[in-house]
Amino acid sequence: MEQGCIFCQIVRGEAPASIVYEDDTVIAFLDAVPITPGHVLVIPRHHAASLAALDPDDGRHVFTVAQRMTAVLRRSGIHCDAVNLLLNDGVEAGQRVFHIHMHVIPRWANDNARMRRDPDELPAARETLEAIAAQIRAAVET
Ligand code: 5GP
Ligand code: ZN
Repeated sequence: MEQGCIFCQIVRGEAPASIVYEDDTVIAFLDAVPITPGHVLVIPRHHAASLAALDPDDGRHVFTVAQRMTAVLRRSGIHCDAVNLLLNDGVEAGQRVFHIHMHVIPRWANDNARMRRDPDELPAARETLEAIAAQIRAAVET
């Protein structure tokens, strides 16, 4: 656990997050500034700032859960005809939160998704995120 890391705070339950899946190794929750509705982040519970610092077993499980989430999103009822998996490793690659994470981004034709967001883009409303998270959690259980 790293002091001041927002994702470690989510792991500890000290910061709010709309969690869609968790187990002993990873947590998956909705991105606060989603590229499209249902944009999920899968993170290891153990803090690792970069791929170089990531335990390979944790990395395998992050990928396994991200892969599972692609199927969950497709059957959840959320608009999701296709998916981008994205992992930014390093500032120049676009990493902004230095607790490594896999983005799982629902896509569909002409969705106008912009993979680069404005730095001043506002977070989605918590109620909106919670409603989407409930829909995804229901699909996790099926
Ligand atoms: P990166 O650019 O590091 O790959 O992605 C960081 C992601 O974390 C961004 O998509 C951003 O919207 C998301 N994010 C940043 N802070 C928070 C937060 O406090 N809660 C949640 N749920 N997402 C966050
Ligand atoms: Zn952390």
